[in-house]
Amino acid sequence: MSSPTQDIPHYDAIVVGLGAVGAATLYQLARRGARVLGLDQFAPPHSLGSSHGQTRITRLAVGEGAQYVPLVRRSHEIWAELEAATGQSIYTRTHGLVLGPRDVAAPRAGKPDDFVRKTIGIAQRHGIAHEVLDTADLRRRYPQFKLRGDEFAYWERDAGFVRPEVAIGAQLQVAQTHGAEVHTHETLLSLTPLGDATVVTTTTRGTYRADQVVLAAGAWLPQLVQAGGALHSAPLAGQLSVYRQVMFWFDIGADTDAFSPARFPVFIWAQGDEDGPAFYGFPAVGPGAPALKIATAQYQATTTPQAVDRTVAPGEVEEMLQRYVQPRLHAPEAKFSQAHACLYTVSPDHGFVIDRLPGWQGVHVASPCSGHGFKHSAAIGEVLALRVLGLPEWADLSTLSAGRFAPAGA
Ligand SMILES: Cc1cc2nc3c(=O)[nH]c(=O)nc-3n(C[C@H](O)[C@H](O)[C@H](O)COP(=O)(O)OP(=O)(O)OC[C@H]3O[C@@H](n4cnc5c(N)ncnc54)[C@H](O)[C@@H]3O)c2cc1C
Repeated sequence: MSSPTQDIPHYDAIVVGLGAVGAATLYQLARRGARVLGLDQFAPPHSLGSSHGQTRITRLAVGEGAQYVPLVRRSHEIWAELEAATGQSIYTRTHGLVLGPRDVAAPRAGKPDDFVRKTIGIAQRHGIAHEVLDTADLRRRYPQFKLRGDEFAYWERDAGFVRPEVAIGAQLQVAQTHGAEVHTHETLLSLTPLGDATVVTTTTRGTYRADQVVLAAGAWLPQLVQAGGALHSAPLAGQLSVYRQVMFWFDIGADTDAFSPARFPVFIWAQGDEDGPAFYGFPAVGPGAPALKIATAQYQATTTPQAVDRTVAPGEVEEMLQRYVQPRLHAPEAKFSQAHACLYTVSPDHGFVIDRLPGWQGVHVASPCSGHGFKHSAAIGEVLALRVLGLPEWADLSTLSAGRFAPAGA
């Protein structure tokens, strides 16, 4: 006699959430021949999570921590494979600058160290092609910046931008050619571990069984793992916060050519305390009329994907123009064209969480938190796929454990 669960469709793995990390994991599982289902509450790539807005910075010397360097390096290789497979452009090399005040420490992203110096140190230790520029070098090479005269900068040859929507779409497309099933507009409701080491996944549209489940739910993850959430996990509950961020685009008229990818780099400008938070930007690219994209990061007010205000107020645009664009860039014709809200999911140490979900057998959690995850997402997907399939992992992700924030004994 068959048990009731034997009639439920069975997969080697189910990936919940098909954004940056979920799409990458699905692709890597499918290309290794796993029977895999990916599901998402929307139809990725979409603009309601953390992976929209045309461009993401990628840089090899990751000032957020040396443990991320192998991930971004491998991601560049995977994007090249995907570009060859699909004929789409994912990565554009523009070179990159991380600049800041020479005489004042300008920390970033919850870490006390000076971000420019930390980046330089990591580049030196990892053999990453780079130069250190003083203000005079910067003025000669990039006259588009308005400098005060006390700046210095890390310049990286292979930095550039990745197109997040294209990367996600390409991975979902190739995953399906390898046999992955993709269900859009389907929301995970609950997981139930069974005694036979499989997990029953219940969604708004059906019930499935899998040997393992990968939870890549982005900004929805904090709600799932909180007390009372569908996947309550005590060590993670209350540890992840979601912050609204805004990306701004400006038409720059006659200066468009000076800010084109051939002449202008991606950049992160660590300001030093008195000048407010770091801001970052991209060369003027399309689709549509090329526009300069600029943003900063805010960690003052938390939100949720349901409650977040997705409209951008005129005052926010004005502040961006007056505080960053006009004083920092030679773009006198800059005119606001559009702005979009986006979500950062942030952990207490601003690091990622990639681990087995504590308290849940057969469930993995993958959150490249804290606003710097896209550049690593393709490689994280590969490491997760190896883990799910029980194959040797080429990266050590032990510093990204899900239990590291919990008080001892919890
Ligand atoms: C403004 C901004 C700028 C950034 N800049 C950079 C940068 O320059 N460089 C960089 O490397 N990184 C950057 N990042 C960070 C990077 O974009 C994110 O780390 C990354 O995109 C997060 O991917 P994710 O897969 O975790 O989330 P997402 O891509 O948002 O995917 C999560 C998915 O899970 C789905 N989901 C959630 N709950 C459920 C459920 N219950 N059932 C089914 N589906 C569900 C959602 O619909 C969504 O599609 C930036 C982020 C923002 C917001």
